[in-house]
Amino acid sequence: MKKIEDLRKTEGEVFEKTTLDALAKLMNDGFIDYIDFPISTGKEGNVFRGVCGERLIAIKIYRINTATFRSISKYLMYDPPEKIKFDRRNIIFAWAKKEFGNLKKLYEAGVRVPEPIAIEENVIVMEYIGSKAKPAPLLKDANIKNAEKIFEKIKKYLKLMYQKAKLVHADFSEYNVLIYRNNPVIIDVGQTVKRENPMAMEFLRRDVYNIVKFFKKFINIEEEDTISYIMSDEDEVC
Ligand code: ADP
Ligand code: MN
Repeated sequence: MKKIEDLRKTEGEVFEKTTLDALAKLMNDGFIDYIDFPISTGKEGNVFRGVCGERLIAIKIYRINTATFRSISKYLMYDPPEKIKFDRRNIIFAWAKKEFGNLKKLYEAGVRVPEPIAIEENVIVMEYIGSKAKPAPLLKDANIKNAEKIFEKIKKYLKLMYQKAKLVHADFSEYNVLIYRNNPVIIDVGQTVKRENPMAMEFLRRDVYNIVKFFKKFINIEEEDTISYIMSDEDEVC
């Protein structure tokens, strides 16, 4: 159980000052009681399990000082954020804000994503997906019980995402879908772009290619059918 003062003492070198301040603000505002343990340590940030009252939460922290040039240029390559000063900190704040905004749009459109809870600078608080004991596995590692049913749901979510939220995930694969109680939950929507983005169609094709390739190991499906399903707006799903 880690309170903010312990974090400052013990993890001052792990967390940057901005991150500690953002965590302190989220704690003061009542969005985080304490941080449990790291779920994932990635190149661009870390995800922790935390607690807020009775609820388990996930805390995604975008790295600032050690963000690599590759990740900064990746941020800019997708939707360049408007009207911000192009320094590293602001780019990362804008990126976190964008992920939070995308989560909100998707959640409201009925796409199963973690419910967004709060954002402060480079820190996002969202619904935790998993059991008390351990976080939900990624699709790539999950023990898949009914591939057809899971694929149908994923297709439905991609369609809702495109038709209702008017977004394209742009980093979709078995690495960004969690399986919780045999149902898919879509994550990692920082790079997600608006449908009108000039690259949107290319990203959508790549997303569909990745997921169809994965499910082809289990079921008989075609990329073209999936694309047509997602792009057709004449369906009960919307
Ligand atoms: P990145 O891939 O940029 O590091 P992700 O958003 O994909 O960031 O999160 C990294 C990992 O953290 C995921 O692969 C997943 O295992 C875990 N994770 C992310 N969000 C949640 C969540 N809401 N609940 C449980 N685990 C999560
Ligand atoms: Mn990811």
